[in-house]
Amino acid sequence: MTGARMSTARRELALSTKGFMPADEGEALWDAAVSAAASVARAPMLEVGSYCGRSTVWLGDAAERAGRLLFAVDHHRGSEENQAGWEHHDTDVVDPLTGKMDTLPFFRRTMHDATLEAAVIALVGRSPQAASVWTTPLSFLFIDGGHGEEPARLDYEGWTPHVVPGGLLAIHDVFPDPADGGRPPYEQIYVPAIESGQFDEVSVTGSLRILRRI
Ligand code: SAH
Ligand code: MG
Repeated sequence: MTGARMSTARRELALSTKGFMPADEGEALWDAAVSAAASVARAPMLEVGSYCGRSTVWLGDAAERAGRLLFAVDHHRGSEENQAGWEHHDTDVVDPLTGKMDTLPFFRRTMHDATLEAAVIALVGRSPQAASVWTTPLSFLFIDGGHGEEPARLDYEGWTPHVVPGGLLAIHDVFPDPADGGRPPYEQIYVPAIESGQFDEVSVTGSLRILRRI
């Protein structure tokens, strides 16, 4: 787009934070969030799946610029593929007292170090339960939570109705070819959004898809 970017300091912080957002997709997420903030009526932004706050730095920066809030939903216990024995497990994020994953301290540290605590509000809990009582329109929705079939479907059903016309829906880990990765974000979120006739595709960067609500 404009070629504008987040500050070098925040970018370096994002890139040094544990997580799963490649640099080019983080930039694309930021571009999309900045453009949504410029073109859509005032409404907050929401991220499902923050982990240690890597993607949250890009989105929080966009929110702060626009004087908006970013809600960051995560139970911080990790997705299936983050658990012990799975591909994306990291023993550093296991709480030795409970033996369970706990990425909340990492997330808090990241928001502190990024000076984004005023712009970002963490919602710590299960996404479908948070969605079940949510009523606020959203200018930007980023879905990167549980990648199993049911979590992905529930995130689609629970959160996408809140995206305002002209607002953006960003979906991570969309793999149309099963050889590239797991299917649920594609089958349970991306395809239903397109087939609903309510979203148009705006951009594709790696596994990141940006759709606009019609
Ligand atoms: N966006 C992050 C990566 C997210 S990983 C980055 O840029 O690195 C997926 C996250 O979704 C994990 O932190 C996990 O705890 C969270 N998650 C999975 N299922 C969830 C659910 N049902 N409710 C809330 N959070 C969930
Ligand atoms: Mg992801």
